[in-house]
Amino acid sequence: MRHRVLVAAAAWWCVACSAPRPEPGGETPATSAATGTWCDKLPRVENRGFARVDVPSAWHEVYQVEPGVFAITEPRQFQEAISYLIVGDSSAVLFDSGIGLVPLAPVVKALTALPVRVLNSHSHFDHVGANHEFDQVLALDTPFTRANEAGKPHERIADEVAPTAFCGAAPSGADTAAFRSQPWQVTRRVKLGDTLAVGGRTLEIVAAPGHTPDAIVLLDRANGLLFTGDTFYESTLWFFAAETDIGAYEQTMQRLAALAPSLRRVLPAHNTVSASPARLQVVADAVGELRRGGGVREVDGERERVTVGDVRFLVRRAAP
Ligand SMILES: [Zn+2]
Repeated sequence: MRHRVLVAAAAWWCVACSAPRPEPGGETPATSAATGTWCDKLPRVENRGFARVDVPSAWHEVYQVEPGVFAITEPRQFQEAISYLIVGDSSAVLFDSGIGLVPLAPVVKALTALPVRVLNSHSHFDHVGANHEFDQVLALDTPFTRANEAGKPHERIADEVAPTAFCGAAPSGADTAAFRSQPWQVTRRVKLGDTLAVGGRTLEIVAAPGHTPDAIVLLDRANGLLFTGDTFYESTLWFFAAETDIGAYEQTMQRLAALAPSLRRVLPAHNTVSASPARLQVVADAVGELRRGGGVREVDGERERVTVGDVRFLVRRAAP
């Protein structure tokens, strides 16, 4: 989740809170819709250079980013979540499964007939939404992951399906009045450092704590690809929710930045399907600067907006 961790937290600790909820660039869905600044970015310019792949879904838009790598995007819901199907010679891995508003399994079946294992970059609801549609789901064994396997009730995520959450209409067939995040079953626990062989391609599960305790990135070392989940994407990075740990995140980003020279491409879980590996060092440096007290700061209630160069963070305010 990029933005709505705060919404869930607000519902939990401040039921009456009705402060505007920030969106990328500080916009709320309502103001975004009113000004067109969010919807008018679609399709994002960074994605337009990749080939679109026809799939049996009016909701998902699929791009082929690399041979055997498909980015399954949901651009018309404000999270703009991206799941990645990574196809080998003998099987495939689905890295995240989106928000779960529209069935995903038919899209995946259209892209590969091979067996598919689902693995999530972390267990926020907007990345695990279609896990329940698949019969092979891998996950870390952490208390945070186990808690999220129960799904999320409608009350916790109602704002995700409010009219202002969409560009245009809600997807046809989705019951937005009752939408909830479905529980999901883990069929095999995996560990940090495990590898997933899919035939001609090996994916390494790399620890990336910070955004959540169970955040991982997926490294395709031979092909120079790093699937970063919410550990890196090109928008405001959130460190407000209780499960975030910005100290752990700084260490994570330093490790990932050290990988950058060996990478050709970074594939984030929101907004854009490809980014330059050089951005990892930029963010690593920025979070270090933030933790040393630097950056341009703007207090926003219990939160603080911190801008370091072109990297934006929203963090918990330090205790006085
Ligand atoms: Zn998240």
